[in-house]
Amino acid sequence: MDFYSQNREDLTSEWGRLGVSQAHVRTIMAGAYKKLSSCPWAEATPPRLLKNWLDEHAQVLKVERSKIQVSMYDSSVKFLFKLADGYEVESVLMPESSRITICLSSQVGCAQGCIFCFTGKMGLKRNLRASEILIQVIEANRWIEENANWLKALNLPSFQRITNVVFMGMGEPLDNLNEVTKAISIMKDPWGLNLAARKITISTAGHLDGLKAALESMPNISYALSMHATSESERSKLMPINRRFPLGDILDFLREKSKSYEKDFLIQYTVIHNVNDSLEDAAMLAQLLADINVKVNLIPLNPIEPSRLNSPDPKRLEAFRDFLYEKGIRVMIRYSKGQDIMAACGQLVTNRLPS
Ligand code: SAH
Ligand code: SF4
Repeated sequence: MDFYSQNREDLTSEWGRLGVSQAHVRTIMAGAYKKLSSCPWAEATPPRLLKNWLDEHAQVLKVERSKIQVSMYDSSVKFLFKLADGYEVESVLMPESSRITICLSSQVGCAQGCIFCFTGKMGLKRNLRASEILIQVIEANRWIEENANWLKALNLPSFQRITNVVFMGMGEPLDNLNEVTKAISIMKDPWGLNLAARKITISTAGHLDGLKAALESMPNISYALSMHATSESERSKLMPINRRFPLGDILDFLREKSKSYEKDFLIQYTVIHNVNDSLEDAAMLAQLLADINVKVNLIPLNPIEPSRLNSPDPKRLEAFRDFLYEKGIRVMIRYSKGQDIMAACGQLVTNRLPS
């Protein structure tokens, strides 16, 4: 049994048959997710029979932190985690005022092949299990606990831990929806990581079927659409997934959903020099988003090699933002964090194959 892949319901039903009470499940989950113990039942004093069973049958996933880099500019922290089969995934901690956000990976690599994205260039190696998604949060929380100076330098209290989760690392989360959903159920659970649902964001390149299913089963979390273009043809060039799920269909769905969904959808728009940064693009964007509840993040492209795509000119970028703003759209330019440690969007990549 892969312990971190079991949510409260799984544990209760599986262990209930062994005579384990809810109270024990609760203490063991507290050991795992609050005390961050690598043997969550060590202190839980479960019945001897159960303890023997656990020691024999339950595995508590361990990963190696093979590399940790702290940005000199903004204190973001990039982790490289080595999984049991040798593959590596990356996660990034991003402090911002009183929040600590972690950017998580959902897959090793990605099948979608967006042309501006490093991870896309790797192709898909495999999906992550729920436990491999959660361990990124657990390990990062352990690191925070061990590095009191990091919190201190940021003027954060010593008990502060991760408050927000975004699935914006490696992979397309909606291509691995089952495991992502399981991991999120443990993140939200007061017995688990106890994060508010709205502080968990799934970002998608536009997997419409997955988005429909996710909104159905997880209506309270937040969603981001990586849009990046205003015409079908241009978007299909940048993001092959657009041929399968055209932008028009996705926006129709978001428009319809806007009537019942209480929160805003986040629209991510990576701005690429001379590709999607004209005022005509801004006008078209404003028109397409007119009756959808959105917030727009403009992300200046982080150039990847080899590629002919370039970062936008700052003046043009600001003009693009101002245009949207004047149209009444809530918009921000999001300079990526951790540029000096290659932790920025689209720079999460590992080439290492299992050794
Ligand atoms: N697969 C999901 C989530 C991971 S990518 C998605 O595509 O939404 C997280 C964000 O980084 C996406 O908006 C993606 O388009 C953006 N991104 C990828 N490569 C980038 C680059 N080189 N520069 C800036 N943003 C990039
Ligand atoms: Fe995959 Fe997202 Fe990168 Fe596209 S931008 S290749 S969907 S990780």
